[in-house]
Amino acid sequence: LDFCRKKLAIRVECLRETYQQQLRQRVNQVINDRWNFDESEERLRQAERLILPDQPAGHVPGVSLSARSLVGRYLRRRLPDISDYSQFVRKLVTVLASQGLLRLDTERGVEYVQLDAAVLIWRTGQGEPPPPDSIYSRRAISPLYVRVQQKANEFFRELYSRRALSLRSVEGLAHTAQIHYTDRQERERRFREGDLPLLFCSPTMELGIDIRDLQLVHMRNIPPTPASYAQRSGRAGRKGDPALILAYCAAGSGHDQYFFRRREEMVAGAVRPPRIDLSNEDLVRAHIHALWFSKVNLRIERSMDELLELQLDHLPLKDSVRAAIELSEDRLRQCIEEGRNILDLCADGLKEADWFTPTWLEDTLRRAPQAFNEAFDRWRQLYRAATIQLLEAQRIQATSFDERQQREARQRVEEAIRQRNLLTNTGTLREESDFYPYRYLASEGFLPGYNFPRLPVRVYIPREDGEFISRPRFLAITEFGPDNLIYHEGAKYHVHRFWTPPGGLGARRSTAKLCNVCGYFNSGDVDRCGNCQTVLDGSTSLFVNLLEMPNAKTIRRERITCDEEERIRRGYYTSIHFRFAAGTGGLLRTVEATVGTHPAQPLLRAIFAPAASLYKINHGWKGGRTEGFLLNLANGEINPDADQSPGETAILRLFVSDTENLLLVRPQAEIQRDPRALASLQFALQRGMEQHFQVEESELASERVGAGHHRAILYWEAAEGGVGVLRRLVEERDLFAAIASTALERLHFDLASLEDRKPDCAQACYECLLSYTNQLDHRLLNRRLVRDVLNALRSSLTTPQHAGRDYEEHYRWLRSLTDSRSELERRFIDHLYLTRRNLPDEAQKSVAEVNTIPDFYYSGCHACVFCDGAIHDEPAQQQRDKDVRRQLRESGYRVIVIRYDRDLETQIAQYPDVFGEARR
Ligand SMILES: [Zn+2]
Ligand SMILES: [Zn+2]
Repeated sequence: LDFCRKKLAIRVECLRETYQQQLRQRVNQVINDRWNFDESEERLRQAERLILPDQPAGHVPGVSLSARSLVGRYLRRRLPDISDYSQFVRKLVTVLASQGLLRLDTERGVEYVQLDAAVLIWRTGQGEPPPPDSIYSRRAISPLYVRVQQKANEFFRELYSRRALSLRSVEGLAHTAQIHYTDRQERERRFREGDLPLLFCSPTMELGIDIRDLQLVHMRNIPPTPASYAQRSGRAGRKGDPALILAYCAAGSGHDQYFFRRREEMVAGAVRPPRIDLSNEDLVRAHIHALWFSKVNLRIERSMDELLELQLDHLPLKDSVRAAIELSEDRLRQCIEEGRNILDLCADGLKEADWFTPTWLEDTLRRAPQAFNEAFDRWRQLYRAATIQLLEAQRIQATSFDERQQREARQRVEEAIRQRNLLTNTGTLREESDFYPYRYLASEGFLPGYNFPRLPVRVYIPREDGEFISRPRFLAITEFGPDNLIYHEGAKYHVHRFWTPPGGLGARRSTAKLCNVCGYFNSGDVDRCGNCQTVLDGSTSLFVNLLEMPNAKTIRRERITCDEEERIRRGYYTSIHFRFAAGTGGLLRTVEATVGTHPAQPLLRAIFAPAASLYKINHGWKGGRTEGFLLNLANGEINPDADQSPGETAILRLFVSDTENLLLVRPQAEIQRDPRALASLQFALQRGMEQHFQVEESELASERVGAGHHRAILYWEAAEGGVGVLRRLVEERDLFAAIASTALERLHFDLASLEDRKPDCAQACYECLLSYTNQLDHRLLNRRLVRDVLNALRSSLTTPQHAGRDYEEHYRWLRSLTDSRSELERRFIDHLYLTRRNLPDEAQKSVAEVNTIPDFYYSGCHACVFCDGAIHDEPAQQQRDKDVRRQLRESGYRVIVIRYDRDLETQIAQYPDVFGEARR
């Protein structure tokens, strides 16, 4: 009988199919989306049936009671004397039925039984676990098992039996950026008025929202910086009223544990001014665009339909807009002038930027109208996809007489209209919408914007009027991955389809060869790795078919199966790859340096790559049968059913990419070879950098890449806009040393004696190497393995290399290029070398636009150095020099003149920003 109960083989009205259909109709009629039934779920759960033995199988669905079934085996085990099992079961069932406990019934000639709901007795539990079920487990009846049987979880026993009663009427709601603006305001209002006692907030609450009489703020972890701590705690106790701030330091978070020991650094810590990387071209360009936009006579009130011609297929800019954004030559000149003044103010940041050429500003401003137009391309794709869906579904409505098709078409029409409304801000609050034009232009990177991600991936959620939610690309590639589940506003949504641009997803396809040797991302048609020069074949590289991660669509899901749950728990298999930007003359944009006490035996090699491409590839579910995802390229369906989904299909891996400043750190062979030492060094240096530069854990990221002697640690600046710290590691002579000291201390070693100050930390703990984000590496991390290399790094010097030449070699190379007639050039170079200052990047470089050849050139700050001997004192030469040098300055170059008749050291010391400080 208990088996019947557990199987839900119960005769009761609410478990009957007809009753449930009626119920569903009534629910659809009167209950809103949030509490409604799952659309994808065909039926509610109906009563089970237990089929009597010796009957044709498969005719009627149900659970068998045959001799080999679970129940059968149990009965024969307990009653070994039964001679005829089937007859025994029949007799048993008849007796139970005659007493009104079971109901015996027949369908299509098959006999089955169910428990009569009327005989169930409902009792409250005693807070003890249910007794073991001997049908399911033989072990369950062994005395040993019974003795060690688990006790009920005390917390939940307490919660359900007592605590829950006091929480009965307590309501708590979320307050995050993903909640509709109107809902958020309503929640704020209710919270302010005391009607809503509890609000769970994301950092959206940090800024600007004022709530009176707030007495308690509970932070569920330590905020990233003292600035955000001040903001969050400042929500409570306004106007001098006392308030209680509780902050929870999670045991699993290195950040939390670090500040748990150093509370005053968080609670009363210094607020660091915000930092952005001024050598980041995208960022500077966005600000120049903002300047341009202020000169353009264009007003945007509300929606994209003021800018784009929505009636035309290709959604071009409106003629009036096109006219407005073309500046007259005069206005453009004026704009260039203002731009130059602004850029002059950040000359220090720009001088490090190798993309910044004298004509960059003008080029950017002249190209701005085109860039403005292109910024709408991603929006156009979404809008066209919604329009195509609308037209196709309307065509089906007009031509189909199949009821199911009509119903589906109607749903698709409604969905497409909702999507188009969201895209044009029809009926939504403009400033809150992702598609409010200003906000959209910032998220596309055309205008500056720091509080939301650039070029996010969006997912459509069919909730109420429909919603788009967006995430940064590098998170979206897994969070919005195929078949994943998204939890949003208390419901589950299943990613089941990608948005397709007109013509399908084919245009987003590409191929690549991922180098196994160094981790480099090569396009699919090259034969040699662009970084390590390895010949790329099946053993040295992985050839992949890729799809750039599109925007996604979801459907609502009520339940998930165990298989799905298990798959989601395991997650996707992903990998990180990199590619250097192309520089001038076919060279790659990298700056190399060696770090060590002795130049011939460096402890580390470091390669800085500005504006490099970083790739993240989603290869598919871990433990899945195939790599990649089966996709329908025509309609974007994920795991399409071959019969019902016409169109070309392909198995593809997904990727996202971004432009980032990268630093590759390649340690000595002993560390490269030892995975534990390499991982430990990775996080030791990362902790050192975080602390030294005061950056948040999320602003720097790292990964180990490559194999053999190309095995390296890859660091990148994950913060939006970059933080501009990695470059300094190859440029400043003692920065690695300083970071190694910080790291050594963080790893509990005394800096003077190297004594272990926390012997309890056997390998690593949350105060040193461990953090929530490096969980998968925890078994590798051991602080003792890197003590000696960190200690050696403390007395190291960083020496930049020029095109693969170290300082000595570069000096000899420059000297070999000096003009044999000029004694001064050689004296100048020798002096720089002897005082260990920055050496020029080039000698005798020709500047074509001015038709001159400066003696030396510093490419970082575009400085031309002229070593003027006595010949330059002749009046004719003086005039020529004056003209050329004026032209150089007008083109944006710096001109530095070193004269033969003045003291060399005095002249050089005047330009510490070019030549650096004397170090000897
Ligand atoms: Zn390679
Ligand atoms: Zn530790």
